[in-house]
Amino acid sequence: MLQVTDDLIRNVVQEVLGHMKSGSAPAPAPAKNAGNTWGVFDSVDDAVAAATESQRRFEAMGLDARRKAVNCIRKICIEKAEMLGLEEFEETKVGKLKHKVEKLIVAGEKTPGVEFLTTRAFTGENGIALEENAPFGVVGIITPVTHSLPTLAGNAINILASGNAIVCNPHPSGVRIACKGTQLFNEAIYKAIGLNNLIAIIGKPTLESAQAIFDHRGVRLLCVTGGPAVARAALKSPKRAIVAGPGNPPVVVDETADLDNAARSIIAGAAYDNNLLCIGEKEVFAVASIFDELMDAMTKHKAVRLNTEQIAALTKVAFTKGEDGKLHVNKDLIGQDAAVLAKHAGVNAPADTELVFGETDESHPFVDHEQMMPFVPFVRAANVDAAIALAKKYEHGFKHTAIIHSRNVDTITRMGREMDVTLYIQNGPSMAGLGLGGEGYLSFSIATPTGEGVTTPLTFTRVRRSSTVGSMRVI
Ligand code: NAD
Repeated sequence: MLQVTDDLIRNVVQEVLGHMKSGSAPAPAPAKNAGNTWGVFDSVDDAVAAATESQRRFEAMGLDARRKAVNCIRKICIEKAEMLGLEEFEETKVGKLKHKVEKLIVAGEKTPGVEFLTTRAFTGENGIALEENAPFGVVGIITPVTHSLPTLAGNAINILASGNAIVCNPHPSGVRIACKGTQLFNEAIYKAIGLNNLIAIIGKPTLESAQAIFDHRGVRLLCVTGGPAVARAALKSPKRAIVAGPGNPPVVVDETADLDNAARSIIAGAAYDNNLLCIGEKEVFAVASIFDELMDAMTKHKAVRLNTEQIAALTKVAFTKGEDGKLHVNKDLIGQDAAVLAKHAGVNAPADTELVFGETDESHPFVDHEQMMPFVPFVRAANVDAAIALAKKYEHGFKHTAIIHSRNVDTITRMGREMDVTLYIQNGPSMAGLGLGGEGYLSFSIATPTGEGVTTPLTFTRVRRSSTVGSMRVI
């Protein structure tokens, strides 16, 4: 016999209301609530099945349900930012607490939602054609440890706004906060529109569960945010993948730059969350004529300069030699405070030091590697063309992010063309490229090798055309 529970009544009421508003065909039967895990699953098969069932009903409910679901995620990110940011900081043990909190707030405020989905229309003697953005279905996402919940939340806003559902394999070192966020989002969405599991997450993620998502027939599209290994794995997948891969953003400073602004911007960008951002300033190429003046300007804004011996001491700890004979960044130092790095260099720096920096030559490992810690190497270049050439070399063709400080529009234009990057920022910190102090919208997934750029709801849609022949042009 059918058990009439509160949940069942709520589901039916929401569904009827959804149809009355959207005028759409009846949705399939209510999803089974797979236990009370609010979206956390042990197996990829179960996660995909639950997300698939919810997505079918979600798609039939129309735009208002999407707006409501997205607003639930925004509200939680903004109102619970302090608690969730603290939990992410305590779990991942990388970055800065204030930026963990801020990243959640800006993800809630600045990630584009349903309003981004605009219809294109073509009209003429032959009638009208409409092009609209339809969902794919279930999108598989992989999230990094550097911003576990902000990436999941930003992806979820984009992906639900476009009518899809999610199956997420989070980074194992940020799984607890990713699951907590997922549960809060699903519970709030359930209360708002009667659907659970629009975000399904693997509670014990492994490389195998990531691969199972890549291979699953029920997953229509992938969005992968991470370093070189996962970017390569996703690019090999036969499924379409949106890949937000690694970067090594260079900064060029020429003789026309406002040096104080350049110094403040480099510090703000490279110190943000202890240089965990993939867009963060990782190495500077400054022309010789202003090099010393720029170095002095840095020390006026809570950056501590290291000398050659001190840089050598830090380098010894910051890199380890792998079995492949290559240098690798020491994970223990990733995202640690500048004062901690200073200590490894043998320097007693104040606890509130934003950044440590110093002069190196171009062959230094700190130039070549994406260090993700608040030490930035500065390399002296003979002139701006030499600086741009070095920037291009050490960006490694990731086509990710580059920054210039210059008042010469010809130089700015030349570097922009030369670098061919996804984000190009002039005369500000790197975050300006994501709308933080610059114009534009935000995402923590910047699709680089696959070319979608800063992701939006449109990134996760199929374009469908409807043509009415001979009528509906009313002018
Ligand atoms: P990471 O590559 O160690 O991990 C990222 C995710 O990929 C994790 O969930 C991890 O479990 C998974 N993973 C790793 N290897 C895998 C494989 N072979 N198969 C399947 N899954 C695999 O990266 P991280 O340390 O978490 O994050 C930092 C890196 O991510 C940096 O390189 C940074 O530039 C990049 N990143 C890029 C963007 C962007 O928008 N382009 C945003 C954030 C971070």
